[in-house]
Amino acid sequence: MRYHIVVRDDERSTLIAENIRLRLNSLNYIEESKKPDLVIFIGGDGTFLRAVHQLMDQLDSIIFLGIHSGTLGFFCEFDEQYFIDHISELPQWIKQKRTYPLVEMILKNGQQQTSYFAVNEVRVENPFQTFATKVEIDNIELESFRGTGLLVSSTLGSSAYNKSLGGAVVDHDVIGMQLTEMATIQNQAFRALGSPLFLSPNRIITLKSNFEKTIFGYDHLLVSQKEVIKEVSIRLSQKSVSLIHHIKTNFISSIKKNFIG
Ligand code: NAP
Ligand code: MN
Repeated sequence: MRYHIVVRDDERSTLIAENIRLRLNSLNYIEESKKPDLVIFIGGDGTFLRAVHQLMDQLDSIIFLGIHSGTLGFFCEFDEQYFIDHISELPQWIKQKRTYPLVEMILKNGQQQTSYFAVNEVRVENPFQTFATKVEIDNIELESFRGTGLLVSSTLGSSAYNKSLGGAVVDHDVIGMQLTEMATIQNQAFRALGSPLFLSPNRIITLKSNFEKTIFGYDHLLVSQKEVIKEVSIRLSQKSVSLIHHIKTNFISSIKKNFIG
């Protein structure tokens, strides 16, 4: 089995990576960054996002496993010692991997279109002036939104930015996507739902606006393409990411540990 390690840039994470590397090499796992079967990310939840984006074009054949180097996150479920002590169970863990669809944002400019993929969420926002857009779902006009922006999160991303916007934290078994509003202005001309909207997996959200000075974000990244965007569609992607969960991980205890203490 070929493995690759993605490390957060800090001393503790680097040290853990060295130990894990030694252990895996002694068991005849082969380190290989180009075409790995297993990607071990060491750091925090943001390290998972970076690891997935690094290997975006080969997610079908990769399984991710997270080791935390500080506090436990949603994605970094293993600690170093447990991983090393139980490394013989790795083949078993791999069989129990869980697969989660990404969110896809398609930017359209006439006939041209480009897709951007996110583990947590995509967002369309204008931090400079009011952002106005028509929102259609499955070609049915839902609303005219006016405010700072709109965000669409996956199930995995529901506990991240989505939560800060008042979106629901979603149990990891539920597949779907959640549309949340950022600083909505309600008036006669513009009226938006005003609450998070959780949609089933096959829906397509389309935004129609002039997108002047609009920022398109996906996870920790920003779209840098400079073409004029005429339309944006957002849906759950065919692309998905496979993650190994710690056998003792339970969604409810994760929420408690992360948010309540
Ligand atoms: P960051 O600024 O370090 O991330 C913000 C926090 O979100 C960190 O504590 C991060 O954990 C945590 N996080 C990331 N994904 C999560 C998830 N699915 N569930 C629960 N917590 C999660 O930046 P980053 O590490 O590059 O992460 C990018 C993400 O930050 C974006 O995808 C977005 O969801 C989130 N964000 C949130 C806000 C907000 O809530 N106002 C604003 C901007 C971005 P670690 O410290 O373990 O990395
Ligand atoms: Mn982070």
